[in-house]
Amino acid sequence: MHPDEFRRHAHVLVDWMADYLRDVGSLPVTPGVAPGDIRRQVPEEPPLDPEPFERLFEDFRRVVLPGMTHWNHPGWFAYFPGNNSAPSILGEMLTATLGAQCMSWVTSPAATELEQVMMDWLRQMMGLPPGFVGVIQDTASTATLVALLSARERATGGRAGAAGLAAAGAEAPLAVYASREAHSSIDKAVKLAGYGLDLLRHIETDDAFALRPEALARALEADRAAGIRPACVVATVGTTSSTAIDPLRPIAEQCRRAGAWLHVDAAYAGAAAIVPELRPLFDGIEAADSLVFNPHKWLLTNFDCSAYFVRDPAALLATFQATPEYLRTAYDADVVNFRDWGIQLGRRFRALKLWFVIRSYGVEGLRAIIRRHVALARELAAWVAEDPAFELVAPVRFGLVCFRWRPAGRTEEEIDALNARLLMEVNATRERYLTHTRLGGRYVIRLVVGQRATEREHVQRAWEAVRLAVGRLG
Ligand SMILES: *Cc1c(COP(=O)(O)O)cnc(C)c1O
Repeated sequence: MHPDEFRRHAHVLVDWMADYLRDVGSLPVTPGVAPGDIRRQVPEEPPLDPEPFERLFEDFRRVVLPGMTHWNHPGWFAYFPGNNSAPSILGEMLTATLGAQCMSWVTSPAATELEQVMMDWLRQMMGLPPGFVGVIQDTASTATLVALLSARERATGGRAGAAGLAAAGAEAPLAVYASREAHSSIDKAVKLAGYGLDLLRHIETDDAFALRPEALARALEADRAAGIRPACVVATVGTTSSTAIDPLRPIAEQCRRAGAWLHVDAAYAGAAAIVPELRPLFDGIEAADSLVFNPHKWLLTNFDCSAYFVRDPAALLATFQATPEYLRTAYDADVVNFRDWGIQLGRRFRALKLWFVIRSYGVEGLRAIIRRHVALARELAAWVAEDPAFELVAPVRFGLVCFRWRPAGRTEEEIDALNARLLMEVNATRERYLTHTRLGGRYVIRLVVGQRATEREHVQRAWEAVRLAVGRLG
């Protein structure tokens, strides 16, 4: 494509993008498609001859768009948010245009140094002490795998990588601990890092779905007595089902005594630490060995961008450093090569969009958005609590409200089924999108307030829709 042609198409696209950002709220938030509907419209074989861009763009609108779920719709109340924002999109456009690999300092000095500064900006924004340094990973799943690999390396005195886990851990198998409510990425990472799922201890939780420190103490003690070595505890601030907060202080103290690595998974909730009055929810976080949170969830930076902080970068180097001759440079002693801070070699320039977001909104602007979401979630929680037909199933800490319709004279199983029908009914108009989970074995509806453009009216209308649906079902 000739640069002049690129210019012409790009202008058309940017106009479309601006309209989309303005009007996405008037589209159905979820697509009305069945499996195979989109695939059927795409030729099975690649084109042999070039096609004009106009036709590609037309097909994007005709074929792709109707099959999209619109995460940046103000009626987005599902899962957790996956926010973008105009500054982030602009940064991403430049990143794509530069098309640089940011594996080593020398392969893009600005990318490495901007990433270092952005991670330190985030550290300060979250109120973390200066000892933490950070690196941008693709996802929290990867960051947690990196943490478990680093913990494994430390627990075996650096022998796991060289000798293999079986040999290095021959004297003492290594165990990992996380609450029953911890994210499935921990199970995945425990498998991938070679601990084995049999050595993942799912620790009991309390009435608020947070890890019970006494239960952790018992599990650590039982393993120690059985000759099993505690390698890592993963604590969650803001669990996926209910945003429960594991008590970091007592957990950190137990990690210290057991010599275990403490990894904190704050993938969603971590963004809230930039709001000073919410920081008490992160009490004890400074004792973590590593910590992950996703600016790609609640900090307006489009996927992917996951902030991973560690206290000891030497532990990363011990686990991940690999320097083939072709990557050696004269600067290696003086610079950070981020390829040695994680799994992948090639890395995207993700710091740029973060730089644009933080500067465009300012820390106060980002705080205001998170404050608004949390206030709206609390307001909704109050409406739920006031309505005798409903119950609040978990404390509201951040932007998530977990509730359940409780019609009288029904068994818990019948109520589960009715809530599943209620959720379908509420989502059926495609004006908003809520999802569900199970807490304490019971079916629960989750409503997360966290999309950039979500305002009070959207939350109010969602609650009205829930009550109207109950009227129809009840
Ligand atoms: C979303 C989430 C994850 C997974 O995040 P990815 O970046 O998609 O890997 C992990 N843990 C928690 C608590 C989450 O909410």
